[in-house]
Amino acid sequence: MSLRPASASDLLIDGKLTPGTGGVFDVVNPATEEVIGRAADATPDDMDAAIAAARHAFDTTTWSRDAAFRAQCLRQLRDALLAHTDELRESTVAEVGCPVFLTHGPQLEGPINDLGYFADLAESYAWSRDLGEAKPMGIKNTREIRKEAVGVVGAITPWNFPHQINFAKIGPALAAGCTVVLKPAPDTPWCAALVGKVIAEETDFPPGVVNIVTSSDHALGAQLSTDPRVDLVSFTGSTATGKKVMASAAESLKRVFLELGGKSAFLVLDDADLASAVSMAAFAVVTHAGQGCAITTRLVVPREKLAEATALARDSMAGFAAADPTDPGTICGPVISAKQRERVESYIELARTEGGTIEIGGDRPADRDKGFFVSPTLISGLDNSSRTAQEEIFGPVLVILPHDGDDDAIRIANDSPYGLSGAVWGTDRERINKVVDGVRTGTMSVNGGIWYSADVPFGGYKHSGIGREMGVAGFEEYLETKAIAEPV
Ligand code: NAD
Repeated sequence: MSLRPASASDLLIDGKLTPGTGGVFDVVNPATEEVIGRAADATPDDMDAAIAAARHAFDTTTWSRDAAFRAQCLRQLRDALLAHTDELRESTVAEVGCPVFLTHGPQLEGPINDLGYFADLAESYAWSRDLGEAKPMGIKNTREIRKEAVGVVGAITPWNFPHQINFAKIGPALAAGCTVVLKPAPDTPWCAALVGKVIAEETDFPPGVVNIVTSSDHALGAQLSTDPRVDLVSFTGSTATGKKVMASAAESLKRVFLELGGKSAFLVLDDADLASAVSMAAFAVVTHAGQGCAITTRLVVPREKLAEATALARDSMAGFAAADPTDPGTICGPVISAKQRERVESYIELARTEGGTIEIGGDRPADRDKGFFVSPTLISGLDNSSRTAQEEIFGPVLVILPHDGDDDAIRIANDSPYGLSGAVWGTDRERINKVVDGVRTGTMSVNGGIWYSADVPFGGYKHSGIGREMGVAGFEEYLETKAIAEPV
């Protein structure tokens, strides 16, 4: 089977591939601005059918009670996708504009392989636990705790790391015994739709267990968060949309799981190797043109080293020109769309009006007349209270800020509505530990440490979200707890 969408990709509803009832919408390559194909443009009726299919599959099949079969289906899907890696790599780079080097990790191969982790978890998880005997109200009882699937999951995902985020939701949800309706972002429908094609044609997932509904209309996400047949909404996207999802899910009292935005700080202590730290911070912010929620976009350095660090950051960023994402050497590709480029450029303009200095970049690369490219940009001269330092930009834009010692660095890191991720560089272990303890975020990297892995829970404090994705914690988000007692 070829995975190249011939003209348009289909929806997956109740085990069948279908064009749906709403026609098609364009899929655009952000590096060339060309329309590279089309995707099925689902309507509310199509979404209704997908939710009905997921509900029916959950309520009437043994899916939720057969962990061994679920593990088998997940491994089957992983192996089928691995056999299509080259085609998926090509379509993913074309659709997402991500640098091809990232498809060997979190943009493709990493999340496909992670399906194996969730399959293993379905088999090894302690689904029931004996609490032993007790005598509540003087009557001797045996007690047991059982874990059960939550039910129908509505998964709503963004465009920046589509495979990573799609699989970080459907992997654990399916392993837990839930059924799923996945609604991917309108900018990246193929990443999800091609997986739907593989599920339909090359795996034994029963009809209705996985449904994939692409649409140009954000309202279909809202439909998932309001429909009473959906038990849990798992959302990744902006904080503004996450709040809407939470509010609209309240009426039907469904569980809500949110992975939202970030403005993470990269803290350099005065005993750190400044050159190594700054070059790592520069590399992080240009990767995939800064379109990562956990990317550290505030570089916070000792005040006495500010000038030196600024020069080092400028030199490092000069080495990462925005370039063709199909080139294996490219680190910084385009941003996803003209709209996103406008947003990034409006923040660069804001930085200027706030009194910031554009140390490098701030424009479009001169050698690219097509594609939504933004030059890697370093901004100095602002305070952490500026909007540029407080708001998520989601582009290759780094703000450099001074600190006056470790406590001040912690204060600056925490002076943010977000709490997603962070980094600290230093030598003294005690000081590093104090910083790690003090920064209120869901992940911390120490001296370049990489926390990204299937078994590591990921998520945020404060306005960065509620709940954890990946790892055992991410799996348990999709479980209910049932307590059972019987007199002895
Ligand atoms: P977005 O919030 O605009 O859209 C995300 C998804 O929500 C899309 O599928 C969209 O169609 C859907 N949607 C839009 N309006 C909706 C509504 N009212 N109800 C339900 N669904 C709705 O985000 P985006 O622009 O696609 O992605 C970028 C954002 O995602 C950034 O803020 C980034 O930080 C965040 N993000 C967070 C994480 C994380 O794990 N914390 C990971 C990646 C991206």
